[in-house]
Amino acid sequence: MGSEYYVTYTSSEDLSAEVAELLSSIEESFSTKVESSVVSRINAAGVGSISLTEEESAVLERCFALAEASEGAFDPAILPLVKVWGFDPPYLMNGEVPPTQEAINAAKAISSYTLFTYSRQNATITKSLAGAELDLGAAIKGYAAERVRDLVKDKASEALVYVGGTIAAVGKNYEIGVTPPRDSEESFAFRFTLKTGEICATSGDYERFYTYEGVRYHHILDGKTGYPATAGVISATVVGEDGLLCDALATAVVVLGAEKGAALLEKCGAKGAIVTSDKKIVDCGLSVIVKDKSYEIA
Ligand code: ADP
Ligand code: MG
Repeated sequence: MGSEYYVTYTSSEDLSAEVAELLSSIEESFSTKVESSVVSRINAAGVGSISLTEEESAVLERCFALAEASEGAFDPAILPLVKVWGFDPPYLMNGEVPPTQEAINAAKAISSYTLFTYSRQNATITKSLAGAELDLGAAIKGYAAERVRDLVKDKASEALVYVGGTIAAVGKNYEIGVTPPRDSEESFAFRFTLKTGEICATSGDYERFYTYEGVRYHHILDGKTGYPATAGVISATVVGEDGLLCDALATAVVVLGAEKGAALLEKCGAKGAIVTSDKKIVDCGLSVIVKDKSYEIA
């Protein structure tokens, strides 16, 4: 998944091998970088159906449900656009020059979850347009964190799980500081309490980006425009018990903007904190404490 993980825990057992094995198996199932993964098999296939294992089916069901609920703000089939912008590994970002409008239009036409039909009953996914491709990168680290949490919760009295920026708390509450999305003297912009069993995920426009002719181009794309999201959200943190959902929602909120994003969090039963480009923090039930005084609660 191109990221690091760690788990700190209190237990009489050594859980490291089990955790590593679980994360490898998730990567093998869902990474675009692994040829045998379900995602790669779907992407390599033409028009038609692919049958899914129980786990693949469950993950895709959750991804497609959020694609619908967010009206494509989280779009698990946005890979052609991600590629044209160069935000896929090895992250060359198209030489830090935006792609041509023509290239964006061509990729946009084949980037949509609506080009796939997921069937729970048949445990299949069907592609209706050759060239359409899946990328679960915006949700799978949350899924991985959730699976690791569930693995360690019966074996460790306390644990903090970190998978590529998605964090789970087990056995006690943890104070979590969120990275300032802009240059800061502080190590975190604000903090909140992650309760035992909960997972948090943060997405923002500061993680992978470049500036071209004074405009910031970042890695969270709006499938409706074909461009990096410009809805005025620079960082979105989402908290809940469903890790996959929190991770995917964090990405969706950056695309939707603060107002629609907050409404989607409420609809999905998640908490969060949304930071806008004018450095206001929209607190959606997290009771955040501000550290970097250049930010203020909206
Ligand atoms: P990261 O995984 O970098 O921490 P995210 O969870 O926000 O951050 O995922 C961003 C990645 O997801 C991008 O690098 C890209 O591969 C993909 N992506 C970009 N825009 C979207 C989108 N609107 N919906 C789903 N996936 C997206
Ligand atoms: Mg995400």
